[in-house]
Amino acid sequence: MKIKERILWVMFSIGIITSPILYEKVLINGNQLSLCEGKKIHSKSELEQIIEKRKKEFGFKGEIVSKIDSTGEIVDVGGSRKMESGKYEVILNKDYLQNKALEHELYHIFDGHCERGYDPISYIFWYEPKAMIHTLFYSPEENKK
Ligand SMILES: [Zn+2]
Repeated sequence: MKIKERILWVMFSIGIITSPILYEKVLINGNQLSLCEGKKIHSKSELEQIIEKRKKEFGFKGEIVSKIDSTGEIVDVGGSRKMESGKYEVILNKDYLQNKALEHELYHIFDGHCERGYDPISYIFWYEPKAMIHTLFYSPEENKK
């Protein structure tokens, strides 16, 4: 956890001291990098199984429904949101139907990023780098096989 926090602070420093454009690039490239070793999810049922497994591992009690964006028109990579109390939705672009993209979105839910609706400042400077770093360091068993 400590190394993750250090990286976050380095990112904040880069973002604040240099330029918003560079900060955005760090976020975009970092997110792409974090998805590199993702393992493909082959079906909706496999997607649901992984979500249930991660909920147990994380001790998350809410309900998470999932959707695959099969036209690629809804999300570029993925998205997560709170639908109602205790109920959340994860959506993945068909081209990013893989476990690390899923982990990024699940982390937004597990870490409470979806609780208060969309807040751009929190999202850009805290939630998104946090989810990115979590995903960078996350290596599920599936990835090691
Ligand atoms: Zn995100």
